[in-house]
Amino acid sequence: MRCAIVHYHELALKGRNRPFFEGRLVRHLRLALRDIGVRQVEALPGRIRIALLDETPWEKVSARLSRVFGIANFSQAHSVSLSKPQPLDGLKSAIGAAAQDLPFVTFRISTKRADKRFPLTSMDVDREIGAHVCAVTGKRVRLQNPDLTIRIELLSREAFFSLSREPGPGGLPVGVSGKVACLISGGIDSPVAAHRMMKRGCKAVFVHFHGRPYVSRASEEKVREIIQLLTSYQLHSRLYLVPFGEIQRQIVLGAPAAFRVVLYRRLMMRIAEELAQREQCWATVTGDSLGQVASQTPENLAVIEEAAHLPILRPLIGMDKAEITEQAQRIGTFETSIEPDQDCCRLFVPPHPSTKTNLDHIRKIERGFDGDALVKQGLELAELAEFRFPP
Ligand code: ATP
Ligand code: MG
Repeated sequence: MRCAIVHYHELALKGRNRPFFEGRLVRHLRLALRDIGVRQVEALPGRIRIALLDETPWEKVSARLSRVFGIANFSQAHSVSLSKPQPLDGLKSAIGAAAQDLPFVTFRISTKRADKRFPLTSMDVDREIGAHVCAVTGKRVRLQNPDLTIRIELLSREAFFSLSREPGPGGLPVGVSGKVACLISGGIDSPVAAHRMMKRGCKAVFVHFHGRPYVSRASEEKVREIIQLLTSYQLHSRLYLVPFGEIQRQIVLGAPAAFRVVLYRRLMMRIAEELAQREQCWATVTGDSLGQVASQTPENLAVIEEAAHLPILRPLIGMDKAEITEQAQRIGTFETSIEPDQDCCRLFVPPHPSTKTNLDHIRKIERGFDGDALVKQGLELAELAEFRFPP
């Protein structure tokens, strides 16, 4: 039987969390592969077996699996039953036949036993199958840097063998770490921040503040494109689009120019937090990186933080722009992020924003306008969009 074998990092999963983790991963795999020809996804001891139809192209399976967090590595494999009295016979002939079609000079066998009651040791199996492959192909065994590694996994009644192994994305299955609300701007940083939290098992709900009617729809279209890309990792996303231009205009009317950015951010946090609570998120997430722009100085981050009650996660806080850019390229959001747009953040931005805002001072300025009403206004006008993968 043709299948894919998925391995996950087991150390992270000791104890009671393990069935929960496995259950999430299996459920996610079923959803991620549902439209490309899969017969069954089943948790076996220490690994997951995905039974494939004969005609399902491996490239499609591989592309999907490379975006399922929680997978350490995966391989295209064949399942063979271990029947007595000569349990290795079926395996031998299947491997011999598969190896005959491959271009290689040196090889090795690497066997793992999931069931230690199997009568032969892993080394015995390596030797016996290796000798058979030598006999049918005329190729040489080489333990270090062989052209081909044939991996065998022995379970109680069945064995798998595979001829290549691909790295998974690592991390934890989406959902095992609860839900978070990601503030997403259309820039380079925030999509990377959201991706990092998704990789640690969080389901992301997205919040974008747009400048309509003062700016065009361009930034919003960019954000939609980015969310569609990120949805390939979690299969379903919700995006709240909050009109912010009018709110900014009202702040501009009542506040000294240098403090606008911090005031915008505090209101964004308050609105995002309400949406987060509505969605049962335990935290909000931003793409802040320490010192990158005026809103990200230590003083201003602290003052922005004070407006919120939920934890604010800043997964990029210690990263350089070059490191963040490299990750954006790797996950595929960079090209969209650098398209020109009219982000609402650049609307009504003063030439010299304060980099060291004082909380008492900000509170005094905030008394000059009705913050609660602005939050309410943002929430009332927020629109919800949903995304699915595949679209
Ligand atoms: P990014 O590349 O993510 O836009 P940035 O370097 O431009 O970040 P800022 O514009 O100061 O930095 O934004 C800091 C963070 O605030 C963003 O990473 C994002 O999480 C949030 N944010 C900024 N603008 C918006 C917006 N229009 N909608 C939602 N969140 C935003
Ligand atoms: Mg930005």
